[in-house]
Amino acid sequence: MLMNKKLALTILKAEIEANTSLPLKKSNLVFGEGSPDCMVMFIGEAPGKNEDLEKRPFVGRSGQLINKNLEKIGWKREDVYITNIVKKRPPLNRDPSEKEIKSFEPYLTKQIEIIDPRIIVPLGRFATNYFLSDAKISLAQGKISEVSGRKIFPMFHPAAALRGTKVMKQFEASFRELGHIVDNF
Ligand code: URA
Repeated sequence: MLMNKKLALTILKAEIEANTSLPLKKSNLVFGEGSPDCMVMFIGEAPGKNEDLEKRPFVGRSGQLINKNLEKIGWKREDVYITNIVKKRPPLNRDPSEKEIKSFEPYLTKQIEIIDPRIIVPLGRFATNYFLSDAKISLAQGKISEVSGRKIFPMFHPAAALRGTKVMKQFEASFRELGHIVDNF
C-alpha cells in the first residue's frame, strides 16, 4: 500500500511539473513531504522564500514551530504529511489569488485522495476557508468538523502564532488537542 501511495504521489508531482499552464511560473514547485501513510495531513497556504529555495514546505520559522509542537505531543515531522494549497510561491509572499487557489485545487484534491489521512489540519485562514468556506479562523480553530466525509481540524497559521502570545497559546492548545484526538481514534 505504502509503495502505491509513494508511486501515485511521484506521478502526481510529475503531472504538476509538466503542466505549463499553471500560474506562478517563476517559482519552484513545493509539492509536499512526509509520511504518505500518516494519520494527519497539515495544509498551509503557499510556500515562502525559504520554501521556494529548498523546494520543501514549512522550512522557516513557521515550520520550526510546527516541528517543536509535534515533538511536544510525541510525534516527529516524518510521521505527518505537510503541504500547501498553492504549491508555488506568490511573488513577495503576497496572499494567493482566487485563480491561483483554483489552479492548484485538482492537484490538492488528488493529493488528499492518495494520502487519505484520518484528519486534515488546515493552517490559517486561507487553508481553512478552502475546506470551510464561511468559517472564521478564530472561531473554527481547535474544533473538529466533518466535510465530505473527512475530519477537518483547523489551526491558526504558525506565522500568526509567532506574532502574538494569545494566538500562540491557542495554537499550542490546539496541537495538544490534536494529540488527544489522534490518541482516541
Ligand atoms: N507558510 C505557508 O503557509 N506554507 C509554507 O510552506 C511556509 C510558510
